Amino acid sequence: MFQNSKARAAAARYNDRKEAEDSADRLKDIIPTLETLKFQIQHEAGGYGVAEPGYVRHVMVATAPALFLIPCGGSNCTNGGHDITLVVMRALHAASTKFDGTDICYGEAGTGSCERVLSYSATASFGSD
Ligand SMILES: [Zn+2]
Repeated sequence: MFQNSKARAAAARYNDRKEAEDSADRLKDIIPTLETLKFQIQHEAGGYGVAEPGYVRHVMVATAPALFLIPCGGSNCTNGGHDITLVVMRALHAASTKFDGTDICYGEAGTGSCERVLSYSATASFGSD
């Protein structure tokens, strides 16, 4: 399979890189001391401040990617959502056990922007390794 060796090498490089990306993206690899993480999530309709029932989102720390994307709660929202990855990772790097924040949806609803507000309150625990 001489003629394929170049392709196979490229494939191997691709796999190595993909594996590296996969492992780099694991939350546990970036914050090895992180043991538990959960979010209390609350969505509010934009402009009205109407709070909706919240929910708790547990993060599977052992397997979760280091990405925190919370879907928008709006039923008529398109392309929306909340990317709180940067803020959360900064807090976890600082070993914060409690942190919270808000994020405004960047999606569209009808002819305007969605602007629903996500409020989150996170609780994390850290081990010693
Ligand atoms: Zn939205």
